[in-house]
Amino acid sequence: INAMRLDKGTEVPVLHVRIRGNGECVQTFWAEGRRLGCFRCLLQAEHKHYRQERFPVLKELPTRKQLGCNGFTPYAVSAPMAAAALCLEVVVDWLQYGRASPRFRTSAMANANVYGVKNQDVSRLAACPACGPRDAQATAIRP
Ligand SMILES: [Zn+2]
Repeated sequence: INAMRLDKGTEVPVLHVRIRGNGECVQTFWAEGRRLGCFRCLLQAEHKHYRQERFPVLKELPTRKQLGCNGFTPYAVSAPMAAAALCLEVVVDWLQYGRASPRFRTSAMANANVYGVKNQDVSRLAACPACGPRDAQATAIRP
């Protein structure tokens, strides 16, 4: 989805939402334009820390379960409800104020053992494999 948004150069915003771990927290990322970071910018791009989280939130690996041939990560039913609520909060800000800042938001469950992640507008990574080279090419083409 991120690559498609960048390829098309669309001005249509994309709202990503995810449940982290076993539902310890939920996160949203609003992707729009090219001034700020893209979804891939949430992961490190440098060789030494490649694909490690730029803003780690989980202190422990999530518990995984196996049922027959299927593996899954269990979480409480409240996690998707919290994710939907955070999405609505972002959309309401966008409709009310015309912008969805802070674009990257984290909402942790009470008593969750997670690192605090500040709600913020994520800056672009110059070495981002998704948005970095595209803009470098676009800049090189421009006179
Ligand atoms: Zn990026």
